[in-house]
Amino acid sequence: MIESTDNTLPDAEAASWYTNTSYYPWQESIWQKLYTSNVANDHFPHALLLNGVAGIGKKDLAFYLAKGLLCTASQNEPCHQCRSCRLFSAGNHPDVYHLTTPENKKIIPVDSVRELIQWSVLNSQFNGKKVIIVEPAEAMNQNAANSLLKTLEEPVSDTIIILLTHKKQALLPTIRSRCRTVDLFIPEMEVGLNWLQQQFSPQEQHQAKLMLSLANGSPLLALALNKSEQLEIRQFIIEQFLSINLNSADAVQVADELSKKVKSQSKQTKSKKKLLTISAYDVIYWIDSMVIDLARLSQRGRQNNSENLINNINNIDYIQQLSELAYQLHFKKLLKLSELINKAYYEIQGQININLLFELLFIDWKNCKI
Ligand SMILES: [Zn+2]
Repeated sequence: MIESTDNTLPDAEAASWYTNTSYYPWQESIWQKLYTSNVANDHFPHALLLNGVAGIGKKDLAFYLAKGLLCTASQNEPCHQCRSCRLFSAGNHPDVYHLTTPENKKIIPVDSVRELIQWSVLNSQFNGKKVIIVEPAEAMNQNAANSLLKTLEEPVSDTIIILLTHKKQALLPTIRSRCRTVDLFIPEMEVGLNWLQQQFSPQEQHQAKLMLSLANGSPLLALALNKSEQLEIRQFIIEQFLSINLNSADAVQVADELSKKVKSQSKQTKSKKKLLTISAYDVIYWIDSMVIDLARLSQRGRQNNSENLINNINNIDYIQQLSELAYQLHFKKLLKLSELINKAYYEIQGQININLLFELLFIDWKNCKI
């Protein structure tokens, strides 16, 4: 799963949260359920946990909810006109607090939560409400989470806390139990694609389906992928990987080649030369994606149901090479390889010989061939 905090893939939910003038089309029913009915009854939960994969617009929804809750004229949506709405759009609203990881850090420390708690006891400047957004909630370390827990247990009146998470299970059970959890899902293909096509230029329209597929259906992630150099990186990695079993390239040589790219990138600081920045994570991620597709195709066997061929396949632009290869591979060996790749995600976070890791994976990949 692509998660922007753990790797070099692009940030799925980029910084327009304050300026949005609507929710996403796929969030309409959740908006009605969460906002329209609750605000009318003044029953908005005091702690809300929005849970779902990266790239579906959780953060935008949280900020838009905050804007609506703080709006002084709101009915079914924020009015965008009142002073509160205007301050919000400028990113200067005194009654909203965004708690996130400090720059270049992966953890929200306890000190940040203490500052937030001090803020939370101040009086509201506008309509009486205050909103706190914590994301990603799983980034709070144990002390930070315990500290926030106190605020959740003794809610300051009219202060609403919205937590966001990609990994609900990584949160303290006590945090989860004090929030109303709302699970957000990947939109239906058609809805996501329709939105994505509106974001793409006429020249890019033909890529929309591929991007959405590579992003596992998460539209914002698809958009970010399209803007990054990740596609070029992906192509490079995939061609190298496939060449081992399509063109009998030497597994060890390919491993050397790729690990040299990864190493030389980590050594160089901002080089002016336009080089692709490939991380070990990129290599693991894209070969993982290939192997999953191959396993699905191989399992479908020789049914030869071409209508079904593309269903559930992410790398649809390589479908021809993949389906050709799938018939020549041992399914069980592919599954074994998939397990090794899953382990590799953890291994590359520690001290490891990348070259050796790639060699082992690629030799195993070669051995998948019947
Ligand atoms: Zn307003």
